[in-house]
Amino acid sequence: MGLRIALVESGTPSTHIFSRTYLPRVGIPTMGAVLKQRGHACDIFFEALSPVNADDLRAYDVVGIGSLTSTIESAYRLADSLRESRTTVVMGGPHATFMPREALDHCDYVVMGEGEDVLLSLIDSIEKGGDPEAVGGLAFIRSDGALRITESSGHVDFAGLPSPDFSLCPQMTGASVPPIITTSRGCPHKCTFCTVTAVFGRKYRFKSNEQVISELRPLLHRSVCFGDDNFCADPNRAKSLLREMIDRNAVPLRWSGEMAIKAALDDELLDLMHKTRCRTVYVGIESIDDDALKRMGKAHQAQVIPRCIDNLHCHGIGIHGMFVVGPDDTLDSVKMIVDYAMEADIDTIQICALTPFPGTQSHEDYRDRILHQCWRYYDGMHVVVRPATCSAYEMQVEIVRQMKRFYSVRNVLDAYRPGRAWRVGYRLGGYMLIRRWARENAGYLNRLKTGYYHQGMPGTSMSPKRAAAPALP
Ligand code: SF4
Repeated sequence: MGLRIALVESGTPSTHIFSRTYLPRVGIPTMGAVLKQRGHACDIFFEALSPVNADDLRAYDVVGIGSLTSTIESAYRLADSLRESRTTVVMGGPHATFMPREALDHCDYVVMGEGEDVLLSLIDSIEKGGDPEAVGGLAFIRSDGALRITESSGHVDFAGLPSPDFSLCPQMTGASVPPIITTSRGCPHKCTFCTVTAVFGRKYRFKSNEQVISELRPLLHRSVCFGDDNFCADPNRAKSLLREMIDRNAVPLRWSGEMAIKAALDDELLDLMHKTRCRTVYVGIESIDDDALKRMGKAHQAQVIPRCIDNLHCHGIGIHGMFVVGPDDTLDSVKMIVDYAMEADIDTIQICALTPFPGTQSHEDYRDRILHQCWRYYDGMHVVVRPATCSAYEMQVEIVRQMKRFYSVRNVLDAYRPGRAWRVGYRLGGYMLIRRWARENAGYLNRLKTGYYHQGMPGTSMSPKRAAAPALP
């Protein structure tokens, strides 16, 4: 007969790098499609699009909540407000996967890692009144109060998954959300701060060209975002897909995607990207210093960066350069990033503070220097680790100052380039976003300045089971 299931992607009210254009994560709509295939009635909600009211969820048999570290507090609040109802609450996503004990203070089950197979088995088990012990890849609290994590049956068959079903989300009607298609999962690299390999593994898995093209077909008149963590991780596969898009007349109005910088050394790949109307790539440059790149486990060295930037621009492809400032970097490193970005004429940039997400190598590397566990600040925009050569406050101020320098009035007005007029609008967006962030986060800056955050202070992880949602400073 099937159960009534609601899947919710929790959101954050704070300004972050993607505040200007919301890109929904495809995990929840993919799970929705899997559950629908199995005959369950499923509705999807994105908190980022509009508030999700717990009262509207009580009628469901199961509520699944997906979240990141920065959105986990909202997920916990929603789960807490459902605890008196008969609804079973399940959580998933990287944070719950690596902090299952904390998450189980708020929900009944945690789906560990990749969720599709585990959630489906769990729903079948709930429907038949089965034993959760028989569901692989699940965390729950046993009747004796101990944490139980069942053995995972491995990664899902990504190519065999149905396409994400956004039609299950009533909020999408009329919402200005760019179409997003994910063609691959996993990444062969192992950057120390990244949760991708920790959750999806290093084996790069991808959909068939046929399936990607069938997902693209209805969207050809639109600007499409490939939501892969690393679209070109296997260059031969990327070339094969792009060639087939050309041969089968399946080229969208334009597209953007994320890739590792070294892929830009491949002229044949860039040529195909240009021919399929790639407008912008989001590139993890991270640093211009080889020691810092090594510390972050990056696969490229600083010397290749200028050639890659030139290659992309020569092929008419714009670059959003993503940089990370680590706790062992100095204030000068931040300034040098912006000097470099302006000199190399990178179209748009973001400078993130290295964030030690649970489950990553960075979490272990900087364990002794983590300032707090107020998870909503684990979004890359906030300094949450004590730097080696300056205070956290000084580092935070410098990141904001340098972002404001890149997104200055002059740099917005100078942004126009033939064929890349869009830079003006995007830089204007950056101008407004960083100033809005600074206004909204005056309190955080002040707390860093006054030393409010200190090692060992209780964070969300200390919130007791069945207490009210944590009071947030
Ligand atoms: S290349 Fe990108 S997706 Fe892959 S591990 Fe590094 S940061 Fe993560």
